[in-house]
Amino acid sequence: MLDLQRQAQPLRLSARLLPERPVTRFAPSITGRLHLGHVANAALTWGLARATGGAVLLRLEDHDRSRFRPEHETALLDDLDWLGLVPDRGRTDEFRAGAHELRQSDRRSAHDAVLAELADAGLTYRCACTRASLRRRLEAAGHPPQPGVETPYDGRCRDRAVTVDAESGCRLRLSDEEVTFEDAAVDLGQQVQRPSEQCGDLLLVDRAGQVTYQLGVVVDDRDQGVDLVIRGRDILDSTGRQLLLARALGRDRGPVHLHHPLIVDDGGRKLSKSDGATGLDVLRERGHDAATVLGRAAWLIGLQEEPEPVRAEGLGALVGKCLD
Ligand code: GLU
Repeated sequence: MLDLQRQAQPLRLSARLLPERPVTRFAPSITGRLHLGHVANAALTWGLARATGGAVLLRLEDHDRSRFRPEHETALLDDLDWLGLVPDRGRTDEFRAGAHELRQSDRRSAHDAVLAELADAGLTYRCACTRASLRRRLEAAGHPPQPGVETPYDGRCRDRAVTVDAESGCRLRLSDEEVTFEDAAVDLGQQVQRPSEQCGDLLLVDRAGQVTYQLGVVVDDRDQGVDLVIRGRDILDSTGRQLLLARALGRDRGPVHLHHPLIVDDGGRKLSKSDGATGLDVLRERGHDAATVLGRAAWLIGLQEEPEPVRAEGLGALVGKCLD
């Protein structure tokens, strides 16, 4: 980790856009060990909550059961304790004790209730398409999917009355509208997205019957009173579609969004959970202490000028200086 170079400019945040005493969340997917990118996100999340008198809740996003491993959850809770990051809601010892309202897999009935509401309102439909069948259609039409570019769903099952069975997923009908929001990261500012062109009708339940990230995140943010979403720029494109889904669920004013720069490796690629070198397990084994790791992660996304160590209790003062 010590040789990662800082790519980001100093990160400036628009104080005027932030809710008063915001409720924000740290919401890692439980698919592997935490790495330095998560630490940077956590440093900003806790720091901003502390700087503004807000609250952080810890939500465990374990909706993808095919990638979930119990040892990853245990390691994540241990890593947060080691970093000294204490959530205001969803404490690590509560998760260790069993079922929790902030663990996504313990909220399936709430998600199902929302799906039933959307279906009753005629806003969703069953979809039997696979990625491969969509690809074949697009190739046949002379528009093959491009590597690195999201392929929008073509709406084939919209009017086909696919029956509910194990081989179908569920999609939300998206209108053609443009979504505008102002990001609390000053350098991003006003964002305009058109989800119907980017992703097409949004998948809410996959063919394996699993709730997707998009549904889980929007329903949970609404139900848990989250009014400030802080996350990496890799998810920026999801925000317009999530705002549309939030509206369909009766939340006219979605949460405020703040998308921070990503930590990238020397080749400019974003860090991944399979990249051992910046995994917290490796950093801990190598003898780095929590303040060094937090300070380095904060520096890498532009929260401080030098990679100086910073303890969890110092994050509020650090992020407070980034507010305009
Ligand atoms: N669970 C997502 C992740 O770990 C982040 C969710 C979000 O911030 O919307 O990438």
